[in-house]
Amino acid sequence: MAFVGRSNVGKSSLINRLIDRNGMARTSSVPGKTQTLNYYNIESLLYFVDVPGYGYAKVSKAARAKFAAMIEAYLSARQELRGVVQLVDARHAPSPDDVSMYQYLKYYHLPVLVVGTKVDKTSRSQRNKVLRTLSQGLELNQTDSLILFSATTGEGKDAVWQWLEAAANI
Ligand code: GDP
Repeated sequence: MAFVGRSNVGKSSLINRLIDRNGMARTSSVPGKTQTLNYYNIESLLYFVDVPGYGYAKVSKAARAKFAAMIEAYLSARQELRGVVQLVDARHAPSPDDVSMYQYLKYYHLPVLVVGTKVDKTSRSQRNKVLRTLSQGLELNQTDSLILFSATTGEGKDAVWQWLEAAANI
């Protein structure tokens, strides 16, 4: 299972929450620090693959192109890949980078779970609006799922695990 999203979207925090081991996936407020694929072996049942955050403007164009090529090679050719969790910030409409990434994943027919992160920062009465904004912004396929998540409160954690187990067939 690969995890993709813009730098600072909350990817490390999500992985930490899912595996309930703080510090294992290091969180940081310095965007773009993760520059390689990080693997987490989940009880020898599956691997989480933490893919470097995209859309971070402060690295050079050449560095961005190099990451992009590496990520694309991985996502398009990795036979063992069962699905991709794409993180988008629940507070905003998806960015052009988010839309491109989703289209890219669909081009390769990868099953995608979209996770709207930091949902604790939106009010409960906004949930339906948030879901609509994300799904319309990405033009989400009917076969893909969308779950709102908070690493702070744990909201959405069980639903994300259910999707992961079904997609990984474990
Ligand atoms: P990454 O760059 O995508 O791995 O993002 P991080 O997991 O390092 O998170 C970036 C920042 O957002 C950190 O300051 C986190 O504390 C914060 N953050 C991450 N997830 C949540 C969340 O669910 N709720 C809130 N309120 N803040 C979050």
